[in-house]
Amino acid sequence: MDVTFFTAWIQEIIRVLAINRDRLTRLDAAIGDADHGTNLDRGFTSVRQAMSDTPPDTPGQLLTLVGNTLIRRVGGASGPLYGSLFRQLGKSLGDAQEVSLDDLAAAFATALESVTRLGKAAEGDKTMVDALAPAARALCSAARDGLKPGEALDRAAAAAAEGAEATIPLQARKGRASYLGPRSVGHEDPGAASSALIVSAMHP
Ligand code: ADP
Ligand code: MG
Repeated sequence: MDVTFFTAWIQEIIRVLAINRDRLTRLDAAIGDADHGTNLDRGFTSVRQAMSDTPPDTPGQLLTLVGNTLIRRVGGASGPLYGSLFRQLGKSLGDAQEVSLDDLAAAFATALESVTRLGKAAEGDKTMVDALAPAARALCSAARDGLKPGEALDRAAAAAAEGAEATIPLQARKGRASYLGPRSVGHEDPGAASSALIVSAMHP
């Protein structure tokens, strides 16, 4: 997987988040402040601009650029969290031109750690971590089992989607939704939903 692969991933994220902007905002209207879809759409629109201003040479450079742009443009809780996810992905991939599934799985695991270090959320707290953590595990076990990248990414996408859906019956323990207490039950977490879209957008 090279810079072309990762560029296609980011472009697909931009496309899918634009299509799902209103759905994500509706999810955030139910248990937050109705800005998640617009926050991410704004952030990734800036990412598109940044990518065309300075086309990155390596996967690491690209993902670092994405992370920095999200931190600058998204705000709220999700900006710094997604920013650190992408920045750490970029840092872990370093200067490599070509990334193996092992590299990607290891980088994703480290990037997830930086999200949990910053947000202090564990799985089951009804956040983006509920989608990202199962995706990280799926990538690691697929790499260990020697699967092809396409199959590994399919499994990661399925795991993230399942994790996002499983947030519906949970009570939020982190972020704005936690202020609602038991009233947060019965709604999918917007950040988990956007994480599932982001992971699913990664495809060869
Ligand atoms: P804000 O809550 O500031 O309006 P967004 O609406 O953009 O920011 O993002 C909300 C999402 O951020 C939540 O649905 C949740 O998935 C995620 N989130 C909030 N706080 C945390 C946290 N401490 N750790 C992980 N994710 C979090
Ligand atoms: Mg919000």
